[in-house]
Amino acid sequence: MRNVILAGNWKMNETPAQARRLLEQLRESLPKTSHEVVIFPPYLVLEHAAKAGFVKVGAQNCHFEEKGAFTGELSLPMLREVGAACVLVGHSERRQYFAETDETVRKKIAAALAQDVTPFLCVGETLPQREAGGYLEFVTGQLEAALAGLDGEAVKRTVVAYEPVWAIGTGVTATAEQAQEVCAALRGWLADRYGKEVAQEVSILYGGSMNAKNAAELLKKPDIDGGLIGGASLKPEEFASIVKTANEVKGGAR
Ligand code: PEP
Repeated sequence: MRNVILAGNWKMNETPAQARRLLEQLRESLPKTSHEVVIFPPYLVLEHAAKAGFVKVGAQNCHFEEKGAFTGELSLPMLREVGAACVLVGHSERRQYFAETDETVRKKIAAALAQDVTPFLCVGETLPQREAGGYLEFVTGQLEAALAGLDGEAVKRTVVAYEPVWAIGTGVTATAEQAQEVCAALRGWLADRYGKEVAQEVSILYGGSMNAKNAAELLKKPDIDGGLIGGASLKPEEFASIVKTANEVKGGAR
């Protein structure tokens, strides 16, 4: 059985003091769950959040090299040492604003797996790509490029997040049917390439304006194993409510 994962991407929000407060509010709000709850806070509070110990903690980015002359970057060994269990790779904001390419995404995924840090690979089409109709080929192409060179065992240790670019931070959510169609296509591609057993073990999340109101409908879909949540993860009550919804829809209350 694959993991149900509720992950909050705090992006470049919250000063360290604010982030520590947010974390405490989250500790008080979160329901008991057997699902995996992950936050991706700003680097400056990553160690603090990891030490708090009640959620898994990940980094929002990484460099693929272990060390060297890459001013301003952080390596996976550094991140792992301060408690990062996961890392976001290929988020559309990084592809759009920081020139992240399929090739750098591929290198980061391989580097994360080598350091035993779980990569959360983000894929998703833009609005023109959706309207042009080739979006399933586009997102499976992103998956293929990111996983090139990995075997099935490595792929099983990767989490995939389908995040249509047109739904991120826009308040426009993909319908549950639209999200399910793409998540099923991604799982189908994994099954064709690595076999059914591998495909059944990879958690595939939906991300894009997920909130307390639309979470149930999305999480009811069979190929949606959780959410990658931006804006709503900055509101502890709302994020907690999404976790509660996952308990109700997928089972998992403890
Ligand atoms: C994200 O950035 O991964 C995201 C899904 O953001 P939002 O929920 O704000 O659309």
